[in-house]
Formats: sequence, C-alpha cells, structure tokens
Amino acid sequence: MPEPKSLRCPTCGREFPPWSVDYFCPDCGFPAGNLEVLYPYVQVGLGFPRAEAFSLWRYEALLPVGEEHAVPLRAGGTPLYPWPKAARKLGLGGVWIKDDTLQPTASCKDRGTALAVAVARKLGRKALSCASTGNAASSLAGFCAAGGIPCYIFVPKAAPAPKIAQLMAFGAHVFRVDGTYDQAFSLALAASQEFGWYNRSDGLNPMVVEGNKTVSFEIWEGLGEVPEAVVVAVGDGAVIAGVCKGFLELRAAGLASRVPRVFGVQAAGAAAVAHAFGRYQRGEPILPAEEPADTLADSIRVGKPADVVKAVKYVAETAGGYVTVSDEELLSAARDLASQAGVFAEPAGAAPYAALLRLVKEGILGREDRVVLIITGSGLKDPQGVTQGLPEPPLIRPDLEAVRKAVEKCA
Ligand SMILES: *Cc1c(COP(=O)(O)O)cnc(C)c1O
Ligand SMILES: [Zn+2]
Repeated sequence: MPEPKSLRCPTCGREFPPWSVDYFCPDCGFPAGNLEVLYPYVQVGLGFPRAEAFSLWRYEALLPVGEEHAVPLRAGGTPLYPWPKAARKLGLGGVWIKDDTLQPTASCKDRGTALAVAVARKLGRKALSCASTGNAASSLAGFCAAGGIPCYIFVPKAAPAPKIAQLMAFGAHVFRVDGTYDQAFSLALAASQEFGWYNRSDGLNPMVVEGNKTVSFEIWEGLGEVPEAVVVAVGDGAVIAGVCKGFLELRAAGLASRVPRVFGVQAAGAAAVAHAFGRYQRGEPILPAEEPADTLADSIRVGKPADVVKAVKYVAETAGGYVTVSDEELLSAARDLASQAGVFAEPAGAAPYAALLRLVKEGILGREDRVVLIITGSGLKDPQGVTQGLPEPPLIRPDLEAVRKAVEKCA
C-alpha cells in the first residue's frame, strides 16, 4: 500500500500530513504554495513489479494511492519509438518519441487525471471540476464518465471545437467562460470552493503532478536507463514539473544514478514560465507571473502559469532549461513529425521537436546526447490548427486515366 510521507510547500518548505490539505500552503497561497507530495524514498529501492496490464498503476510504490481507487480507463503505458532518421540528421546520440497522444482521451492529461480521480474517490469527494484550455477538461470528463462521477468544466470561449465535442460526448457539465483561460481558472477555483468540488486544474492540484511523473518512469524503463535530455511543452508547468519530479524521485529512490537535463518549450507569445526561469537563473525569486498569452497552440496558451514555482525550480535541479519557438516553428514541427515519423500531434504536442532543432543549432545538445521528445497531444484535437496552409487533395474523375494523371503530379 503506497503512503505519501508528507505534503510540502515548495516556497516556504512547511510540511503538512498527507491528505490534510487539498491544494496549497495556507501561508503562501496559490500559486506559490501549490504543494508537492513526498514519499519515504528509501523504501522503494527494490523497484517496480512487472504487471500484466501495462498502465501507470504499476508505479504504485511512488504514487499517493493504489489502483483499487482507479476508474477502469487505462492511463500511461504509451509507446516509446526510436527515431533514428532524426538522430542521424541532427547528429545526436539518439532520438525517441514518447507518444503520449495514445491515451484514453488522446493527451498527456490522462496521467494526472487518473491520479486526481482516484484520490477523489479515496477521499469520498462526490464531484470534480477543472478549468482547462481543452485537454485537461476532456480528460477529466472521460475519467468521470468511466467512474460515474459528476464533473463541472470551465473552458475559455476560444477552446477548439473537437475538444468541446469530447466534453459533450462524455456528458460533462460544461461552462464556456466568456474570457481567457486564466479567467476560467480563477472562476473554477472559486466555484469549487463554493460547491465543494474536488478541483483537478493543472498546477493547482498536487496529485496531477503525481500522475504526470509516471511518464518519466516509463521512459527510464523503456530505455533501460535515463537519457541525457528530455524535452516537453509547457503551459501551466504541471507536466514538466511531473517529468522532472519523476526523474528526481528515481534518483532519490536509488533506482537511477543521475537525472536527464529536462528542457521546457513554450510558444514565444506565451512564455511566462520561460521568463520566470530566466529571472531565477539571474538570482531573482520565483514570483507568480502574469503576461499576455498569444499562440495558435491552444494547449499552452497560458499567461498566468499555475505551477510556475515547481516548473522553474525542478528544471533548474536537472540542469535543463527553457526554449521559446514561434508559431511557424510549431506548425512546421507538427507537419514534420507527422510526415517523417507518422505521429500526428497538435501544435503544442509537436513543440519538443521544434525545440530540439533549436537546441541542436545552438550547440546545447550534440553527438553524445540521447534525447526523448514527449509528444503530449493528438493532432485530432486541433486538425485545423495543424493543417493550415496545406494543399487540398485533388478531386479526380472515377477512372484510371485520371489516377494516372494525378500520380504524375506526385513528387
Ligand atoms: C497540458 C498540455 C501541455 C502542457 O502542460 P502544462 O501542465 O500546462 O504545462 C502540453 N501539451 C499538451 C498537448 C497539453 O495538453
Ligand atoms: Zn508556504
């Protein structure tokens, strides 16, 4: 039976008994006080059992709750594909794609949701809620549908239609907020306190990071060791906080001897975490950030990152860093990933590939480095975003002569 040791405030260091506080340190508040979950790492030394069904629940020794509280949807256990063509082209020791689009609701959010929903069940909470740019919402809606639990979702009015479609199909109570994601986030927090809902919002709920970190356990197991670098897209910072925490915990538990450098990628027009990281590197404190957020990558269009403290601190602990890329680089990364690796990602999902091109160009990564790109969301979530500017397929007469003519035009 897993049992966390304590909850700790990442800003003031105050500790709380497990389950005594839901979200943040009362002294530091949100977002500076968003809690981290600590375990008795020495007891995990034997590693994880082999499991029949490959899901994130096999890492129960480092999770706050066990599978007995889970709903029957499989999160985790996603493929890790080698991409040797990219490694050769870029002169790297190796490139792998961790395909987190292959989860029940088609994004990385299912890892954090699996944990948040299981914890809600353990604690006897009757309903869940979240604010989301789309993916966390559809993820929560799916897992709540599987568990027969009501959920209340706050999305910004600009969320893409396919994500709203998923929400409606799952039967969630959906509120489209006439405002930005950041406004939807604050509203969901206030409403959850008012109505007693357990809030799964990214960054706010420490259990989400506990699910997110399992992607690192899978990368470590899949490669048989830790790579030199891991790259992932960043909005609120809960995913990258989980990625770093997973590797840091493997080292704390004595299962790995080192941690990879973890690199976060943000859109140039929505780069609050990257900017906070820059200030931290110059010796300034990590303060709650608020900036305009403008990018076509809706999943990382975040101006007030909710998990900025962990996203900055943990990345620094891995000796990693942050990269910002333009919307054009995001789009072209999504197309390259689809056409050269067969992995169809939404623009935010493909961002790590755009970042990799930069990291190689700037000489930050090179021949000695084996790099894992975490692809966080499916292209089916935002097909219009990815296909903007691509040519329409030709319409042909239903005869062979027309095919012959069309084939001549294929490059
Ligand atoms: C949520 C999400 C991210 C970033 O996660 P944060 O916790 O907000 O930093 C990246 N890519 C996709 C596809 C996402 O849905
Ligand atoms: Zn505190």
